[in-house]
Amino acid sequence: MTEIIDTTEAENQIRRFFERNLLELQAEGGHALAPEVRETAFQQVLLYWRKLRSLAERVTDTEVKLSLPEQRTPRGRPFAIEGVVDIVREDGRTTMYDIKTHPPDEVRANAETYARQLNVYAHIWQELRGESLDQTAIICTAFPEPITEALRSGDGVRLAAEMDQWEPVIPIPFDAQGVAGTVSDFAAVVDRIEEHDFAPPSLAQLREPLPGMRRPFGTAVCRNCDARFSCSPYRRYMQVASRASEATFRQYIEDLGPDSEREAYVAAALEAAPSTSPQDLS
Ligand code: SF4
Repeated sequence: MTEIIDTTEAENQIRRFFERNLLELQAEGGHALAPEVRETAFQQVLLYWRKLRSLAERVTDTEVKLSLPEQRTPRGRPFAIEGVVDIVREDGRTTMYDIKTHPPDEVRANAETYARQLNVYAHIWQELRGESLDQTAIICTAFPEPITEALRSGDGVRLAAEMDQWEPVIPIPFDAQGVAGTVSDFAAVVDRIEEHDFAPPSLAQLREPLPGMRRPFGTAVCRNCDARFSCSPYRRYMQVASRASEATFRQYIEDLGPDSEREAYVAAALEAAPSTSPQDLS
């Protein structure tokens, strides 16, 4: 997969940044990545840079923190809404970009949901910060399926063709009128979380794809969920999908990967552990 992508000096610098960030994340979280996963992640960063280089170079305000403080839930709990966006100001126009790790098809199919969030950010930007705004858009960092397949195939020509087709920037019109409704929906969710009033979706829901997804929810979403090993609908989903018995399934969840991966996890955990000197113990 790696050999179909040549890198320039700028991209070698991105590689160095990537490795440094990865080390910091490992030290913070104690999680290591298997070499193949690390390489796949780097390829995503690299192709994302190649596709969006001209936009990245035009960003005027990067990682702008937006905050809507002093909100109250229906049950009186205080809460705030926060977000981080990038801003491009050029030719008298201001565009706000929100970066999502979701694939473009999913964002297009659920544009209304994303618009609700952008409306809140637009409200904060315009009303609380007194800034002008002409357009909002989502930047999708996840590859569309055809690019993943082209990478897997090792065919550079196919990859170049798919890169041309890839449209990771999706304009989403904003409408600050709907902000009150969105904030009150957030507030209701805060109350439910605080009261532990939540449950996973049913097995039937796990078998259905979400709008814009080709794979079922149980595969597209649950496989990336840290709670999956203690989630009963997901356990049932896996059992049915693999027609496995409980004993077989136990083997599946107890499989922590090959020795090399386990050693990498241990090394990352040791690096992440606070260093203790004899003076610390005295
Ligand atoms: S595995 Fe995670 S995402 Fe999937 S249903 Fe369970 S809690 Fe939800």
